[in-house]
Amino acid sequence: MSAPAAAPAQTAHALFIQLTGAEPDGLWSAPGRANLIGEHTDYNDGFVLPFAIDSRTTAAVRRRGDGRIRVASTFDGTVVDLALADLDGLFPARRDEIVEWARYPLGVAWALRAAACAAGLDATAFAGVDIAVASDVPVGAGLSSSAAIEGATASALNDVWAAGLSPVDLAQIGRRAENEAVGAPTGIMDQMASMLGKRDAAIFLDCRSLETQIVDLGFDAAGLSLLVMDTGVTHAHSTGGYGERRAACERGAQILGVAALRDVAVTDLPRARELMDDVTFRRVRHIVTENQRVLDTVQALRTDGPRAIGPLLDASHVSMRDDFEISVPELDLAVETARAAGAVGARMTGGGFGGAAIALIDNDRVEATAESVTEAFAEAGFAEPHIFTVRASDGAHRDS
Ligand code: ADP
Ligand code: MG
Repeated sequence: MSAPAAAPAQTAHALFIQLTGAEPDGLWSAPGRANLIGEHTDYNDGFVLPFAIDSRTTAAVRRRGDGRIRVASTFDGTVVDLALADLDGLFPARRDEIVEWARYPLGVAWALRAAACAAGLDATAFAGVDIAVASDVPVGAGLSSSAAIEGATASALNDVWAAGLSPVDLAQIGRRAENEAVGAPTGIMDQMASMLGKRDAAIFLDCRSLETQIVDLGFDAAGLSLLVMDTGVTHAHSTGGYGERRAACERGAQILGVAALRDVAVTDLPRARELMDDVTFRRVRHIVTENQRVLDTVQALRTDGPRAIGPLLDASHVSMRDDFEISVPELDLAVETARAAGAVGARMTGGGFGGAAIALIDNDRVEATAESVTEAFAEAGFAEPHIFTVRASDGAHRDS
């Protein structure tokens, strides 16, 4: 189970005092996220339905008068200290000079400065800063600790520099930092969820227009929990697999003469089958049906409540397993075992080839389900999974 939300705030505060010997101007935090449904739809201009979780990253920040930026994190013992002006030539060309984790907060500072300058902010606004970071978002478990550190840093600098940027601007700044300062070619879903999350609600995001709607989940009232089953599996070929899937989607869109698979309806699929090879067709079918499942999930949550989304979660898993072919035996076993233990619905989540599965489950079945999955993994000879619940929570904000 995740640690209480107060923990990273206290840890960041303590680290800040250790770093500077002074009190911070304030604490800002942003959460990790889980994706309820809508997988690989983001880069097809489609729909996703993530929510912010109850694990957060906190940044303790204070202005300093000498134009330097200094970052520290409990992640490791390194402290990076450089002149703010030096950020300009650093990314992306000389990113290798910066220890990897520090590229996230420094990349945010770099991208935020650029966005604020473009919006007309005077260069004198950018005081130096000390930043100390702590987190209880597990790293690399598919819960986007990267968006959490980006969101916490962006929220802090937006206030400290009085940049006046919107939450959506800050999400785009986080994405730019991740793409250009870190060098990870990710979409914008994680940052939008981390910035815009609401308690017991999901963010319905149109990845083409970046329009969002808050959709009540109603898990609390229905007595439901969302279980995350992290298999711990990371596959060496996940990067290649991701690139291959992206290429297949682009090929499918080109054959169908559309800008992106977002523009293909479920009723177009029989025609698509005649125009392309079987593998490309199945990749296309996953995206097209997954987009429709996101729309159907939003509709079901609004009209029938959270228990109605189970079959959509299940169908999403089958589509990723059979059509997109990005599941692994550990993910299939977690999903099947959770369903057999009475889950309302379950699916693998994230990019695939490993990572975590999620299950929507009655509160009083959580322990038994976790035990069943752990036992099934032991019987299959798989490594012990890491199983915990997440609650949909508020997005980035100033804590104090
Ligand atoms: P995830 O699925 O958790 O987002 P990523 O590989 O995208 O995995 O991002 C994880 C990386 O983000 C870490 O390896 C580290 O470089 C950085 N990071 C995340 N949280 C922190 C933190 N609290 N302090 C410093 N760096 C962090
Ligand atoms: Mg990430």
